[in-house]
Amino acid sequence: MKERTLLLLKPDAVMRGLIGRIITRFESKGFKIVGLKMIHISKDLSKDHYAHLTAKPFYPDLEKFMTENPVVAMVLEGKEAVEVIRNIVGPTNASKAAGGTIRGDFSNSTSRNIIHASDSKETAVKEVARFFKKEELHDYKLVSESFLYASDE
Ligand code: UDP
Ligand code: MG
Repeated sequence: MKERTLLLLKPDAVMRGLIGRIITRFESKGFKIVGLKMIHISKDLSKDHYAHLTAKPFYPDLEKFMTENPVVAMVLEGKEAVEVIRNIVGPTNASKAAGGTIRGDFSNSTSRNIIHASDSKETAVKEVARFFKKEELHDYKLVSESFLYASDE
């Protein structure tokens, strides 16, 4: 099923000059970029986005890291986007991430792990709405679409 999911190329990806190399991986897989912008995350937005983690001992460091430099926020669309993209991203602890995943290839850290991706369909709907207004999301057809999927997929 066609889904949309939210990604954040975190400040470490931006500061290390990895934006293009990361986006290319998703384009190559066939995902369509339907929203894309560079933003500065506020402390309030960080607390909303990481509400499940604000009580953790590492939260102050996470908030400082996520709000000190810009991120690239992106909405991708495609078949089973949420699960497929989490697999392309790799596990939270990049030291345990397999080569070929984004975290496995670009990070060796749990806290500076390059990228965020929504972890379920429900979370994806909430996170897309948190970061993007309706008019910032675009409906269009990739010219490659008929070669990416069979008609029954
Ligand atoms: N994080 C951290 N230390 C930890 C666990 C998580 O700094 O021990 C940060 C890390 O940046 C991670 C983010 O908090 O990506 C969100 O954690 P979550 O468990 O939701 O992992 P994710 O969904 O990003 O894989
Ligand atoms: Mg998460």
